[in-house]
Amino acid sequence: MTATRVLVLNSGSSSVKYQLIDMADGTRPAAGLVERIGEPGAAADHGEALRQVAADLGAKGLGLDSPQLAAVGHRVVHGGTRFTEPTLITDEVIEEIEKLVPLAPLHNPANVTGIRVARALRPDLPQVAVFDTAFHSTMPEAAYRYAIDRQTADAHQIRRYGFHGTSHAYVSRATAALLDRDPADTNVIVLHLGNGASASAVSGGVCLDTSMGLTPLEGLVMGTRSGDLDPAVLLHLQRSAGMGPDEVDDLLNKRSGLLGLCGDNDMREIGRRMAEGDEQARLAFDIYIHRVRKYVGAYTAVLGRVDAIAFTAGVGENSAAVREAALRGLARLGIEVDAVRNAERGSVARLISAESSRVAVAVVPTDEELEIAREAYSLVTV
Ligand code: AMP
Repeated sequence: MTATRVLVLNSGSSSVKYQLIDMADGTRPAAGLVERIGEPGAAADHGEALRQVAADLGAKGLGLDSPQLAAVGHRVVHGGTRFTEPTLITDEVIEEIEKLVPLAPLHNPANVTGIRVARALRPDLPQVAVFDTAFHSTMPEAAYRYAIDRQTADAHQIRRYGFHGTSHAYVSRATAALLDRDPADTNVIVLHLGNGASASAVSGGVCLDTSMGLTPLEGLVMGTRSGDLDPAVLLHLQRSAGMGPDEVDDLLNKRSGLLGLCGDNDMREIGRRMAEGDEQARLAFDIYIHRVRKYVGAYTAVLGRVDAIAFTAGVGENSAAVREAALRGLARLGIEVDAVRNAERGSVARLISAESSRVAVAVVPTDEELEIAREAYSLVTV
């Protein structure tokens, strides 16, 4: 039996998501989620959660011992400057990923645990790390270097890395395919608008700039994260409000963004409240949209020529109101959304621009699991 399946593992800070994908026929024989790790009544830690995943798969006859399994693909959040491509996991690779924990203290430890447990369960199986930062490693230095003292920046590995890379890679390619264009000759602004949100400027399949930075905090307004703000706000909070680093971290990552602005981080709820005339929800929406528009303008300048703008992730794929507001009144930039197409719901990649629009506007459902599976599979089958 040829091994054509990839198990994709995404070990987040408090959950483990998995999908088993058959690369021969595109089917997904199993998928699931272990949530609330560490909370009462749930898996105690990531090790236990991973063993639960393995047991669930085993109960369906799809366990890690299956001869059809070609590889495990692990999503790893931070690859630093060391990892710019999917990488076959060895002891040395695990050590290197652990060295990057200070850059991603919430995520990389969970990712490493996932890798260790999967390796212990099936030591002979190739395991591949696919990094969230990798797609952005092509950014020119003018885009990734922050304008601070060089020595300090380099000593502490401070630079823009960018995240959601597998999504930006998948969506930019899928957008070119939707337009029937060669990806090597297509310029796309990808707007990944989920609970986390980021924008990227992709030229010929190469990332030129992205909105997230050293960490996933920079850039767009998100569900609970502030996105861009004057760095002096942090100093002001420390000096005037007496807040320590952990409190500031908690404020900006967990109590800001849409949640901080109006008490809700779900765009559906915000839409419902706006329909009832709720001013706070309306303002939160307006601030969110204003930021997206700024990045569309900035990345139009970065790319010079924009062929397409692609909306993806939970908000981007589902909220016609966000898409409409984000691109309203931009006909002079060649961007025109068709109201009827935009209002239609769908689960496949589709165009929502008007016939007269010079820039194609698309809704492209992201598929990070498939992208991870593809990258892992192509590494183990060459
Ligand atoms: P993600 O992180 O990509 O899973 O996106 C999750 C977010 O998508 C949720 O927090 C919601 O704000 C948003 N979302 C999901 N479904 C809808 C919808 N039908 N309309 C508007 N927003 C949605």
